Amino acid sequence: MSSNRITAYIGLGANLGHPLRQIENALWRLDNSAGIQVIAVSDFYRSKALLAPDAAPQPDYINAAALLKTSLPVRWLLQRLLFIEQKLGRTRGQRWAPRTLDLDLLLYGQQRYQLPNLTVPHAAIHKRAFVLYPLRDLAPNLVVPGLGSLQRLLRRCDRSEITVCRTEQGPLMHIDSPKII
Ligand code: ADP
Ligand code: MG
Repeated sequence: MSSNRITAYIGLGANLGHPLRQIENALWRLDNSAGIQVIAVSDFYRSKALLAPDAAPQPDYINAAALLKTSLPVRWLLQRLLFIEQKLGRTRGQRWAPRTLDLDLLLYGQQRYQLPNLTVPHAAIHKRAFVLYPLRDLAPNLVVPGLGSLQRLLRRCDRSEITVCRTEQGPLMHIDSPKII
């Protein structure tokens, strides 16, 4: 295995179909992608959907984060995430539309990118409890390039927005086959 692999963190979310199964399926697909290894998965959290003004109610979201090791360049990794979103039925509607799967590249090593269609660290990483708390499960001492320590970001974030709905047991033990969805 190559020694110059990058540590990356991704956020996973879903609120349509079978959110837990879709997230598990995505993790399995990622772990079975060339150049990607899923090292650890956070607890799974439930939160209320962010809604556009006057929008109809939506089902709650399930969110998690995963720690990857990857030899893929950052653009290829993002393409892989978008490809898996599509495979699991993601259609792109309006902002804040409900979704079968959302995969966000949160961090790619300590690197920063501001390119068309690629912002890393993810542009909303510091605003969302459902991103920051899963990240804390994986790496409590993380430093987010340009934003400082995760601990500091967490202090400004409202924990009451989320509840744990499944506790992970550390390494990726339970994902050994794709789930039918
Ligand atoms: P959001 O996840 O912010 O609600 P979408 O998933 O609909 O929004 O947005 C996806 C688009 O955002 C993709 O086409 C992708 O090119 C772009 N994008 C830019 N940076 C990132 C990132 N770090 N992770 C995922 N998508 C990103
Ligand atoms: Mg996204």
